[in-house]
Formats: sequence, C-alpha cells, structure tokens
Amino acid sequence: MPISENMVQEIVQEVMAKMQIAEAPAGKHGIFKDMNDAIEAAKKAELIVKRMSMDQREKIITCIRKKIKENAEVLARMGVEETGMGNVGDKILKHHLVADKTPGTEDITTTAWSGDRGLTLIEMGPFGVIGAITPCTNPSETVLCNTMGMLAGGNTVVFNPHPAAIKTSIYAINLLNEASLESGGPDNIAVTVEKPTLETSDIMMKHKDIHLIAATGGPGVVTAVLSSGKRGIGAGAGNPPALVDETADIRKAAQDIVNGCTFDNNLPCIAEKEIVAVSSIADELMHYLITENDCYLASKEEQDKLTEVVLAGGKLNRKCVGRDARTLLSMIGVDAPANIRCIVFEGPKEHPLIAEELMMPILGMVRARDFDDAVEQAVWLEHCNRHSAHIHSKNVDNITKYARAIDTAILVKNGPSYSALGFGGEGFCTFTIASRTGEGLTSASTFTKRRRCVMSDSLCIR
Ligand code: NAD
Repeated sequence: MPISENMVQEIVQEVMAKMQIAEAPAGKHGIFKDMNDAIEAAKKAELIVKRMSMDQREKIITCIRKKIKENAEVLARMGVEETGMGNVGDKILKHHLVADKTPGTEDITTTAWSGDRGLTLIEMGPFGVIGAITPCTNPSETVLCNTMGMLAGGNTVVFNPHPAAIKTSIYAINLLNEASLESGGPDNIAVTVEKPTLETSDIMMKHKDIHLIAATGGPGVVTAVLSSGKRGIGAGAGNPPALVDETADIRKAAQDIVNGCTFDNNLPCIAEKEIVAVSSIADELMHYLITENDCYLASKEEQDKLTEVVLAGGKLNRKCVGRDARTLLSMIGVDAPANIRCIVFEGPKEHPLIAEELMMPILGMVRARDFDDAVEQAVWLEHCNRHSAHIHSKNVDNITKYARAIDTAILVKNGPSYSALGFGGEGFCTFTIASRTGEGLTSASTFTKRRRCVMSDSLCIR
C-alpha cells in the first residue's frame, strides 16, 4: 500500500534501529570495505524502497536526473582521466542522454483482463536487491542508468564495477544516494565496495539476498553470470558492421558512419566497428570518408604497424582502447593533421583490425561482390553476438533481408549508431543492451518480475 513521506521517514528510522550495518566512509554514501556489508546495506534500503509509492520513487529519480546534469562535466572528466578512454565532450553528451532519456516509473505498467469471471492483473514487482557488474568503457553512465531503472522497478542495487573505473563509479554511486536522501528516501539505494575484485564479484553472485544479476561487459563476465545459478541479464560484446549498398545516399552514409564510429572514441558497444560495402559504391564511399569526413587512409605498412601495436601478441592492447585516431597514429610514428578523426583502410573480413572488436576509431572496409555477399560477410563479422548492426540503404527488401539474417538487438537504418540510444533518434536510452539473454535494450520493466493478481468472480463492472 502506498505510504506518505512521513511514514517513509518512520520506516527508515525503524529499519535503521533494527539492523546494525557497517558505516560507509564519511562523506561517501553507499561505499563499503566489505561486499557482505554492502549487500546488507542495500537489503536494508530495499525494505524501505519496496514500501514506497511509485510517486516517491519517481521523486528520487527526478532528483537523480538533476544531479546527473549538474555533474555531467565532472563525471565526464573523471571518466576520461581515470580510464584514459574516450573524450570529455562526448561523455558530457552521454550523461545528459542518461539524465533525459532513461525511463523511470512510467515504464512499470499493468496488464488487466476483466470479464464474467472477475479481474486479473499482471503487475511488475521488484526482484529485491540486484547485483550489477559494469564496464570501464561507460562507467558512470552504466551505474546511473542501471540504478534509475532498477529503482523505478522497486529494487536497490549492489555494484561490482570495473576496478579501472572505481573512482568514477564511486562518485556516481555517492550522487545517487545523495539524491535519494535529499528526496526523503533511504541511503544505500546503490552500493559498492572500495576495491572491487573477482572475489567480491563472486561473493555478490553467490549471496542469498541477490536474486538477479545484470552483467554489462565482454563475453567473460556474461558467461560467469549465466553460470552463477541465478537469473542473469547478459549485456555482452558486439562488433557492429555498417553495411552500405548501392541504393544508399553514399555521401550521407559516409558522414553518419564516421559520426557514429568516432563518438566517444568508438567506446559504445553499439558503435560502427567496420564497414561492408557493395563493390559498385565502395570507391565512392571511401572517397567521401577521406575527402569530407577527416579520415586517414592507412597504407599496408601502417596497417601492419597498427596491428602490432593494437593487438600486441594477438591480445587487445588496453592502452589503445578508447584513444583518438591521432594518438593511435602517433603510436606508430605518424604525425597526423589536427583534423583527423578516424583511420580507414580496405581489407578482407579476416583482417585482425576488422574482425576484432577494437573499441577505437579504426574502420576497415570490406568489399562485397553484391548485396547477398555483403550480408554474408556482415553476419560473419558480427560473430553471432546478436548485438548491433547498421545499414545504409533505400531498398526495403534489402533492409529486411539483412535484419532477418543478422538478428541483432539493434539495427539502425540510415543514421549513426548512436541514434539507437535515442540520441538523434526516437526511443529511450540505456547503456545495458542485453544481447546475449534477449531482453534487448534494458529499462525499468526489465528489472521486474511479472506477478499475476486474480480476483475471482468480482470487480468486473461492465
Ligand atoms: P570487461 O569484460 O573487461 O569488464 C566488464 C566487467 O566485468 C568489469 O566490471 C570486470 O571487472 C568484470 N569481469 C570481467 N570478467 C569477469 C569474470 N570472469 N567474472 C566476474 N566479473 C568479470 O569489459 P570492459 O572492457 O569493461 O567493457 C568493454 C566490453 O563490454 C566490450 O566487449 C563491449 O562490447 C561490452 N559492452 C557491452 C555493453 C552492452 O550493453 N551489451 C555495454 C558496454 C560494453
């Protein structure tokens, strides 16, 4: 039953008095030394959140939106400084996107059937305390966006963030709790540990109070979560191809692809990672990439050098991930002009800089004989991640054929990849795209369970 704000305060005090929990360090809300203490604190907060009205949850979410906007630049700078990845300007935009377009409680809807035998409702109820594992590529964006959705669904959340982004994640978690406290809600709606490790992640995954785990990251973490024996939401890796056919507006396609590929230095998992172009327009597309979109055409020798640096010993060099094109070129001794945004070249789909998910502005172009060959190569390059793919085409039959063959959670047509996140496109924003487990773009409703509530033979007034 919904309760008033005064009652929330009473419940906060009552629960606090009953349960002894470890204190978070002074001035930092939701941050604990020990994972068990963090989970206990989130559990305590959850007992309060689940008795709050939807209106009270929404009040906290509104305050979170405000705080994200106020802190967008700080969070962006902190993320770039701590991880060395991405760029401040785009990260500011990403935080505004989270603040403006992450769904809140309006995403929690009810289905009803009424008839001669009564009234039946399907309501979306909370899971309780959710465990969440977050990546270093969009650290605060994911923490903030996950918490807004999970709280809207009536849950609290325990994070095990990427250790390389812990400072930024802690800053975001503190903000979330400040927003809750300022709006009359409890502390610890989101919690974490000072030093997240694989051990703290393991404690979280096995804990009796965690019933749902949301993992955002590469294949390793998704597999770990899906092997935990708990319900898992798996938002895994991608390698999105951008297919361009002969019916596309080639000039615009080149611009859209470079804009999407270079956004936050290619860190978003949805960003264009390679191009597959039908042969008849491939040269024209490359021409526009180089002459109108600040792309640097890498020679064969430069490609080899880049491969050596970026995939040192066959392993992705973390020092290259999320770096801008000029920095990458400087690593192989090329002093590129100031305007250069992206490195391009043509190669076979097996080229390591094309086949691997690099997360940096290197865009290999694969030439295809015809549309069917382009689809086949793009499907191969997506590696069955079923994550994201993009196409530039005016032929509806071609678009449909590609969409069916590649079977991804996201397919952007005739636009930059980021329009899938509601940035220059319709729809809501998320930084957790559940590609492996099929929920697709997550929102508040993803973090709820369906509960059927039946009144037999009454309450139908038709
Ligand atoms: P990562 O896989 O290295 O780390 C992600 C998180 O998982 C981190 O918190 C890390 O500590 C943890 N982790 C890794 N292996 C683990 C294991 N075996 N057990 C428990 N925890 C483990 O990824 P990253 O470099 O931080 O992020 C980039 C990757 O994430 C890319 O592959 C990208 O495509 C993917 N990603 C996917 C989405 C999505 O929504 N699908 C969003 C962002 C990033």
